[in-house]
Amino acid sequence: MVTLADLQVKTLGAPRFDSPLASYVEGRATNQYYVAESDRILMDDTVELVQGRDVPWEEIATFEAGGPRARLFFPPRTTRAAIVTCGGLCPGLNNVIRAVVRALDDHYGVPEVLGFRNGYAGLDPESGLEPVVFTRESVADIHERGGTVLGSSRGARDPGVMVDTLVRHDIDILFVVGGDGSMRGAHVIHEEIERRGLEIAVVGVPKTIDNDIPHIGQSFGFQTAFAKAAESITAAKVEAQAAVNGVSIVKTMGRHAGFIACYSALAAQTASFVLIPEVPFAMDGPNGLLAHLRRRVADRGYAVIVVAEGAAQELLAEAAGGATDASGNAVLVDPARYVLERIRADYAERDEVVTLRYFDPGYTIRSVPADPADAVYCARLAQTAVHAAMSGRTDMVVGRRRHRFVNVPIPAVTKRAHNVSPDGDLWLSVLESTAQPLSMT
Ligand code: ATP
Ligand code: MG
Repeated sequence: MVTLADLQVKTLGAPRFDSPLASYVEGRATNQYYVAESDRILMDDTVELVQGRDVPWEEIATFEAGGPRARLFFPPRTTRAAIVTCGGLCPGLNNVIRAVVRALDDHYGVPEVLGFRNGYAGLDPESGLEPVVFTRESVADIHERGGTVLGSSRGARDPGVMVDTLVRHDIDILFVVGGDGSMRGAHVIHEEIERRGLEIAVVGVPKTIDNDIPHIGQSFGFQTAFAKAAESITAAKVEAQAAVNGVSIVKTMGRHAGFIACYSALAAQTASFVLIPEVPFAMDGPNGLLAHLRRRVADRGYAVIVVAEGAAQELLAEAAGGATDASGNAVLVDPARYVLERIRADYAERDEVVTLRYFDPGYTIRSVPADPADAVYCARLAQTAVHAAMSGRTDMVVGRRRHRFVNVPIPAVTKRAHNVSPDGDLWLSVLESTAQPLSMT
């Protein structure tokens, strides 16, 4: 259970400087722009949840409000900040970089930001990557492009070496834009900073195309990604409808969380079955996928199956053989290929025709530029991160809850993953808009 103590954001110390934002909004009652330290956002959605926790009112779990503070820990103008992007690509990375650079310049008069290249590798001199210097001019157009202008990478680096690099470059604030692994890395860097008694803030902007990080509302780029995936589902339906007994299979991202599969299926409204990691299913037997699919194809003449990349792993555990990538993440066996081959064999066995099509929008959805809604979200998350860092907050990430931007401690977001609940209303919506039975086990 998450407690109020788990949601307390760390600071480097008492604030020491007045925010220059006062002059920026000259002539107005500037106080309304500042966030009060007492401003907190409720974690629970319902009265029942709050009551169920059985804790006194003043100990109810709440998040710290994000936003500009009247008093800063770091001095405006002379603070030195750096940014790094790690892990897989996601729409909006360049928007975040641009907004961090712009927010530091616009609000705090910090004219340049260092960019460490290729993820944490750029913080290790052994990789020979010199950082780039971002200015407001150099980032002017980068948000129009997908990917990350800094590059990214996987693979572990020594936190001691990375902190040495921060010290050598005289960095006061490190912004880390990355997924669960990157945030674990950011926490380890923070621990090393703390161990040495340094005054360096580490603030994360969580990046996960799978939307699998808890407490942050929705991750940036997610909306762009599922909209793109939905286009493939629509194309898959057109193909399937045009073929004799057409069965199209669309593989989506989603290693451990089926959010992209669910949202893209809901967006396209044409999927017959959605297979996600959180909901196990059987292929065989009277209630297995093959039997339901045969009925569906017989009824409608075609079917579309959306498969998250992490689905059916329990059926495929043996084939994976425990292989891992450079960051230690398990290499998954492609469940969409597996499902496709099983369908092919099933129809062949019955001597019936089936026309199979395989769609993998995977890397395409990661590399597109952010859509307008995500562009807004990225900019505002980045601004929230800059405000938090300038006020001396550290070991934290930014997110959005109940339409409010919030600061959340890194350990709270790395302790567990955010998943589609098989008992929740999202999965129910998916079941309602597919031909899928409540259970296929
Ligand atoms: P995504 O999974 O969304 O692509 P990610 O941030 O989870 O993004 P990873 O490749 O798992 O991607 O991790 C990114 C970086 O964080 C890598 O350089 C990796 O070595 C580092 N990292 C991952 N886990 C840890 C950890 N527990 N401690 C320190 N560093 C870590
Ligand atoms: Mg990850």
